[in-house]
Amino acid sequence: PETITVAELANRMAERTMNITRTLARLGMPAASTDEIDQDTAELVLAEFGHTIVRVSDADVEIGMVGEEDIDDHLLPRPPVVTIMGHVDHGKTSLLDALRGTNVVKGEAGGITQHIGAYQITRKSGEKITFLDTPGHEAFSAMRARGADITDIVVLVVAWDDGIMPQTIEAIHHVKDAGVPMIVAINKMDKAGADAQKIRTALLQYDVQVEEMGGEVQDVEVSATAKTGLDELIDKILLQAELLELKANPDRAAEGTVIEARLDKGRGPLASVLINRGTLKTGDIFVIGAEWGKVRALVDDQGKQIKTAGPALPVEILGLSGVPKAGDAFAVVETEARAREVASYRASVETAARTESSMPSLEEQFLALK
Ligand code: GDP
Ligand code: MG
Repeated sequence: PETITVAELANRMAERTMNITRTLARLGMPAASTDEIDQDTAELVLAEFGHTIVRVSDADVEIGMVGEEDIDDHLLPRPPVVTIMGHVDHGKTSLLDALRGTNVVKGEAGGITQHIGAYQITRKSGEKITFLDTPGHEAFSAMRARGADITDIVVLVVAWDDGIMPQTIEAIHHVKDAGVPMIVAINKMDKAGADAQKIRTALLQYDVQVEEMGGEVQDVEVSATAKTGLDELIDKILLQAELLELKANPDRAAEGTVIEARLDKGRGPLASVLINRGTLKTGDIFVIGAEWGKVRALVDDQGKQIKTAGPALPVEILGLSGVPKAGDAFAVVETEARAREVASYRASVETAARTESSMPSLEEQFLALK
């Protein structure tokens, strides 16, 4: 349970401690300035002072200022966000490379492909798909553990020659837990003697029934190296996305999720963010995890500077006060004062969580897995 002392809360709110203790007493929860109060109580106090902090998610550490729900009229279709999973060496990285190479609409300025944790492809017909390009279960689990369910569809890569392996099974479990639809990509079909049927049959044992076996899971035969089956895979992803009716309101203050963050020697703290809703613009003031900032520049996966970023677009942000964590929530706020306030509140909540817990942090677990 995260707590904050009354004095610290007052400090963060730029209010006199006495005003806070009085408010608490009036609310029937008397406390001294050195007493710890919990998150719920802190929120009540904030509300009393006209602040509208609400929880971003059930993840206890995550406090933010998610705006109102969007009404249906404001929702527009958005691209799907896809994660590729599968056993080591089954071809996840090769497939991500092949999909990107085949379908990227090259920027006019001849931008350089940049690793920002995700990329978006655009079909000639205009449809877009966002791929998280950190394949693997660690990233998926780490994000989910932080309350960031950003994946709409999982592509499970299975090399036909190697078959169902431990990490394949693990991925199936993750997908089922997350309740995310899955498409099976049977890879390495260029290899002599390729037998996809073997995989379809083997999957039955793990409760995965592809369409040919009378089930509802789509599958597709591909070769990442020979670049076959890629269009079909994209078709199936788009078909699945259509069924999900993915929508977001682009016309509001942006909210998103950190997919990667790092400190760059020349450019300072950088974060790759996937926009969940709204449109992000240069100059916007934001909170990002326990950090905050003002958007100095937005850079896309082609290394190109862009002015705005809408739903499901991965974008690198310059202009942060520090380095946030993968899975952290991101939101645009109105003023710098507000940004500082929320960021420091989040920082205090995180510190409390760290000192009270002897568990290794997610980052530590994540590194241990690598
Ligand atoms: P990952 O560990 O799942 O990311 O797998 P990689 O993409 O690194 O691929 C592992 C190995 O399999 C590499 O040597 C790739 O060249 C090879 N590979 C990947 N896809 C294919 C394919 O479609 N056909 C063949 N023949 N080899 C492949
Ligand atoms: Mg790889």
